[in-house]
Amino acid sequence: MDNLEKDIKRASEAVKDADALFITAGAGMGVDSGLPDFRGNSGFWKAYPPIAKLGKSFSQMADPVWFHKDPEIAWAFYGHRLNLYRETVPHEGFLRLLELGKKKQYGYFVFTSNVDGQFQKAGFDDACIEECHGSIHHFQCTKPCSNDIWDAGEEKVNVDIEVFKATGQLPKCINCGGLARPNILMFGDWNWVAHRSDAQGARFHKWLQKLNNSPEAKLAIIEMGAGRAVPTVRLQSERISRNILNSTLIRINPRDYQVPGGAIGLPLGAKEGIDRILF
Ligand SMILES: [Zn+2]
Repeated sequence: MDNLEKDIKRASEAVKDADALFITAGAGMGVDSGLPDFRGNSGFWKAYPPIAKLGKSFSQMADPVWFHKDPEIAWAFYGHRLNLYRETVPHEGFLRLLELGKKKQYGYFVFTSNVDGQFQKAGFDDACIEECHGSIHHFQCTKPCSNDIWDAGEEKVNVDIEVFKATGQLPKCINCGGLARPNILMFGDWNWVAHRSDAQGARFHKWLQKLNNSPEAKLAIIEMGAGRAVPTVRLQSERISRNILNSTLIRINPRDYQVPGGAIGLPLGAKEGIDRILF
């Protein structure tokens, strides 16, 4: 048995034995659902040729300044992604994790930097998900004139991808009628309304508290597709693994699979990793 097989076996056993499942995910989780990989400028520009012409990086596009300087470009970027995520069907790995998590005595909790709403779409309970960077399916005011966050519902944003402009009516604030934006934490973002994400975080802490009060409970942490460029998700997986006595961290990542001592790193894509652990 080679090292990868041994690691997969260890991961399988940890997942089977666990009383609780903590699922953490970065952008790599969606690649197997057909979502573009924004890794580096080359990956980003391949997904968005018109942005290659502008010569802007992902972090330059994900800057709230566009909503003030050029709302049609800002909404081209987010509107296109909103439409894409609405059309995307979460891959089978989501469903397998959900099935597993539901069977555990302490259930599951999801922590993700993805704003795409794919866990909810796959059937995960909205009350058991923390979206640390917010959600594209929720809007807020650009000013903001209040702390309100509202569900995007069926609101459509039309995007002419060739010229990279949103066309027609752009989403409006439900209070002041000014321009709305997605309730996503952007780069250098002072105006993000954080209370939805904060409330999710408070529910997560309650769940952790239950585990902490039951020191015999075993926790499996399955992290997928969380890279090092924005390490929020990796740090969270590692922090929880340090703080919960009986925990095993399983990191599934085709490139950045290095792990702290005692954890398991599997150099695989998200769906393949799940398939092989849950054979
Ligand atoms: Zn407003």
